[in-house]
Amino acid sequence: MTDQTAVESVEETVEESVEETSRMLYPLLAQWWQENARDFPWRFGKTDAWGVLLSEVMSQQTPMTRVLPYWMSWMDVWPTPRALSEATPAEVITAWGTLGYPRRALRLRECAQAIVERHAGHVPDAYEDLVALPGIGDYTASAVLAFHYQQRIPVLDTNVRRVLTRALDGQESRGRSATAREKQLAGRALPADRARSVLWNQATMELGATVCTAKNPNCDACPLRARCAFAAAGWPGLGQKRTRAKQSFAGTNRQVRGLILKALRAEPTHELSYERVRGVWADAVQLDACIASLDEDGLVVIRADHSVALP
Ligand code: SF4
Repeated sequence: MTDQTAVESVEETVEESVEETSRMLYPLLAQWWQENARDFPWRFGKTDAWGVLLSEVMSQQTPMTRVLPYWMSWMDVWPTPRALSEATPAEVITAWGTLGYPRRALRLRECAQAIVERHAGHVPDAYEDLVALPGIGDYTASAVLAFHYQQRIPVLDTNVRRVLTRALDGQESRGRSATAREKQLAGRALPADRARSVLWNQATMELGATVCTAKNPNCDACPLRARCAFAAAGWPGLGQKRTRAKQSFAGTNRQVRGLILKALRAEPTHELSYERVRGVWADAVQLDACIASLDEDGLVVIRADHSVALP
């Protein structure tokens, strides 16, 4: 056997063990989910696809317990994409309150308008249609497909990444976005059965949010404890992710925020249309988050036509 063949053989064995391990973890996770899942109004089939999409957008970077009153209020005022599509920007920004990253509110309104225009007001059930909507990325599209339409698709947020990387790979999940290895891990660990895959996604996400947390995982209360590779290895590098991520500058939100302010300062009117601000940074999602955070800090104002200005 050549060295390369030997490496491939070992890697194949590792990949097979991921699938086998996830099969053994499934019943433990399923029982824990049935006994411990928090009862939110967007879970257990109690809302429609629009309600699930709204909850997923609102809970990005915001705990679900904080999202709850906002979700209730939004669903009361704008229970359908068509209703939200007819709201004004000022209305949605006001209703966003202190949820943070208020551009998400404007993007949701644009998303609702696109759903009305392209899909007759119905949230689409195809991945390509969902990610083509304003403000909807891979995560939100996957979550809507799995959690509402009950499709078999990996849903990979920070919490799922952390649980899978720890339990199956025995390592800490590092970096801001999913690595190729983490995506592969999530795909291979996902149960082949559709119904099981839905529960797997929900339960791993909930476990990451409530038990296998970033800094203080409550391993004594974890259903995976006896089979967790990370615990077995002695929790190597626990919580290291954030420290490392903050050390670099290139590509960070700090850099993007600086570029936005620099462009605004260079304009005689200190104002830029949204189309021109988009030229500052290629990653539209990151750019939106930076504009929103500048707005939150009172460093810029976002006008109703989405243009941005110094205050
Ligand atoms: S045993 Fe601890 S580290 Fe492993 S998955 Fe559970 S909470 Fe996370």
